Amino acid sequence: MRLIFVGPPGSGKGTQAQLLASRLSLQHICTGDILRETMKLDTPLARQVHPYMTNGRLVPDELVNDIVRELFRTSSRPTSFAFDGYPRTLAQAGAFDTVLQREKLPLTGVVVLRVDDEEIVKRLTGRRSCPVCKTSYHLANKPPLKPGVCDLDGATLTQRPDDREETVRERLKIYHENTEKMIPHYRAQGLVREIVGKGTIEQIYATILQSLKAV
Ligand code: AMP
Repeated sequence: MRLIFVGPPGSGKGTQAQLLASRLSLQHICTGDILRETMKLDTPLARQVHPYMTNGRLVPDELVNDIVRELFRTSSRPTSFAFDGYPRTLAQAGAFDTVLQREKLPLTGVVVLRVDDEEIVKRLTGRRSCPVCKTSYHLANKPPLKPGVCDLDGATLTQRPDDREETVRERLKIYHENTEKMIPHYRAQGLVREIVGKGTIEQIYATILQSLKAV
């Protein structure tokens, strides 16, 4: 199975892509994670990527397309996958089509998660994580026992810079202006499965799986 997960930041696309990947033995490929890892290094690419990531703006298409193209050039190229956060623009979708056609790996489906903007703002601005053990918390839904401190190791919890309200609203604007415009491209190919991103993780997972049975 070869899937793309599309959705605004905080829609749960990462969680669902990861779950599907682990249960169906697909490679989970998240360009956000790849770029966050890239940023940790002291390289020209890291310095190029940094300002876009911290302001919640999209990294230029050519950079991300190159990263993805390279993935398919390795001996461990993905053949069954759940792409999470790529493609994110029509230009990226076009570049990805070219890669997949060359590799003879047609897509199975494009899962689009729908969640209201205000719900997204609530979800994201409340996210915190432990910089040491990576455990995630939420101020409203999963608060730590002691405010601001990790239950497991006592480290001070941190907020992702791109989860600040101002940045979240900017990321939503970018999603509506860029990523949503890519959806008709896949709809025309009969690949889109629209899912309401509300309910428990397992409920949403079951809906996605059901929608894919119709592929
Ligand atoms: P995510 O974890 O998917 O929310 O991605 C975090 C950040 O990484 C985004 O706000 C962008 O700055 C960057 N990013 C991730 N994937 C892409 C992509 N396909 N195109 C451009 N920028 C991306």
